[in-house]
Amino acid sequence: TKTGVTYPTNFISKIIADRPDPTPVCMRFPPEPNGFLHIGHAKSICVNFGLNEQFNEDGVMRTNVRMDDTNPLKESPFYVDSITKDTRWLIGKAAFPNKIMSTSSYFDEIYSCAEKLISNGLAYVDDLSPDEMRELRGTLTSPGHNSPNRDKIPTENLRLFQEMTRGEHPTGSLTLRAKIDMSSPNLNLRDPVIYRILTNTTHHNTGDKWNVYPMYDFSHPISDAIEGITHSLCTLEFEDHRVLYDWVLDSLTQSCGHSFPTRPRQIEFSRLNLKYTVLSKRKLIQLVEQNHVEGWDDPRLPTLSGVRRRGFQPLALKTFCSRIGVSKTDSNIDFAELENVARETMDKTARRAFVVVEPLKVTLTNYGLDGEEDFNMARHPKDESFGERKVPFGKHIYIEESDFFDGENPPKGFKRLVAGGKVRLRNAYVITCQEVVRDENNKPIELMCTYDDRTGNGVTPEGEKRVQGIVQWVSSSSSVTCDVAQYDRLFKAELPGSATGDFLDDINPDSVSIISGARCEPSVQADCLEHLDAVENAEGGGADVYHGDLHYQFERQGYYALDSSSSREKLVFNRVVTLRDTWGG
Ligand code: ATP
Ligand code: MG
Ligand code: MG
Repeated sequence: TKTGVTYPTNFISKIIADRPDPTPVCMRFPPEPNGFLHIGHAKSICVNFGLNEQFNEDGVMRTNVRMDDTNPLKESPFYVDSITKDTRWLIGKAAFPNKIMSTSSYFDEIYSCAEKLISNGLAYVDDLSPDEMRELRGTLTSPGHNSPNRDKIPTENLRLFQEMTRGEHPTGSLTLRAKIDMSSPNLNLRDPVIYRILTNTTHHNTGDKWNVYPMYDFSHPISDAIEGITHSLCTLEFEDHRVLYDWVLDSLTQSCGHSFPTRPRQIEFSRLNLKYTVLSKRKLIQLVEQNHVEGWDDPRLPTLSGVRRRGFQPLALKTFCSRIGVSKTDSNIDFAELENVARETMDKTARRAFVVVEPLKVTLTNYGLDGEEDFNMARHPKDESFGERKVPFGKHIYIEESDFFDGENPPKGFKRLVAGGKVRLRNAYVITCQEVVRDENNKPIELMCTYDDRTGNGVTPEGEKRVQGIVQWVSSSSSVTCDVAQYDRLFKAELPGSATGDFLDDINPDSVSIISGARCEPSVQADCLEHLDAVENAEGGGADVYHGDLHYQFERQGYYALDSSSSREKLVFNRVVTLRDTWGG
């Protein structure tokens, strides 16, 4: 498929399948450009694009990306750009539309819809303050009361609305309200505000043209209908707004003679919530602006740019979204679920390589300096199409410091190296530790070992016991130093802020550790240099190549991806997820 998202039958797909008239289905993803997209938005993207693809048998994608840009106070082209880039990254070039829509490009038509409602006695201009309006609106248990302005005649309302539009009334002094039902049990129908005044505000698309801006409940159904949307999917908090959505479209078409290409239908599904993080643009902005993280693409953030930089692949996010499914039940999912999916998908897509994060020097005393050799190893154990890599071996190598236990009594089950013991260097030789060289603090700094030349390429000589412990290694002369960043959860609490009311109180102070002086095998450097070129060449042309596309399973360490701070001189890798399984011991 183009999207790579498929959903098992769910309540929305049933509604779509049962539509009376099996014409093509059109949907939209409508972010407000007031922040960066996060994993919650990924759910919405996958639902809209995935279901849309499923129902259009002609193979044409009919999902719009629409910037819902009706609040110039909070929106900016900076966010428009990031949303465009992140959505395209997630859903992929093949499914992504050629043109980005925006609500602001419909302002003329939305405005004329407002005038039609006024002319037909279905909207009026009110001068109540927000407090007075709230007072008269009533509550769930008490009816509302009419505003004294409710019965003004259409010509008077039209004159005032046009004055508002010309900027003759200050911000906040007047509003346009739909005239519906002040005693409705649904508070959204008690004459909701549909236009407000914002003077002296420049909109990133329409500039200074407008002094009035439509409210979501008014602009959204109209924009959907203008675009020919058939199914307008949104999250559950809009369930109570559906009658208003319907009222707007029915009033315009049935009472005002306005016509639209479609009569879209709003369907609500539950939001995605993730434990140990926050999915709210407001909170994410706070984390970024108060420097609790290093920017919108901080690898610890659940923003799409953060998870992309961290190295999560679109496939993992899409698979995750397919699995959590679509329903009306609120879900609070552990971030670990996404990590599990990432492990599963990266197991298939990641090349394998050796990295030693905290190197301990090993000298093979019986190995000739002139005997240096290369071991050919598969880049992927289960997929030959990945090809092979050459891993140079030599007299001086490094192993992971933690693969040597310094003392008499290693923990139960420890199968790696101890003084006098043996270990298998993965795909190379079995070595025996003969002597431990120490610094003045008695800390091991070098292991003098011998190797068994009958055991190359993982061979166990006949009649001998297999060595159980297997460790990765790099050669001293060919390996390349690099930085490795390891991340933990950004929050210590499952529901940040649940104890004190302030989510910032639950920030995990140890959510990142950067280790410099790790060493990777030379094939990694070669891949990375090539990839850095590809990223550099892509940027000008606007193609879709990101640093984190290059990802590895660093054997026994985890899945890692190239970080965007990498340079040709210094490679930096982000740990995407740890490996659940190691080779034992
Ligand atoms: P936030 O609360 O983070 O500001 P929002 O809903 O106001 O989110 P929008 O830009 O309006 O953000 O969202 C665009 C689309 O993405 C909407 O259809 C919205 O319902 C959907 N969406 C946002 N957050 C989630 C989520 N956590 N799970 C599923 N869909 C979401
Ligand atoms: Mg919104
Ligand atoms: Mg919001």
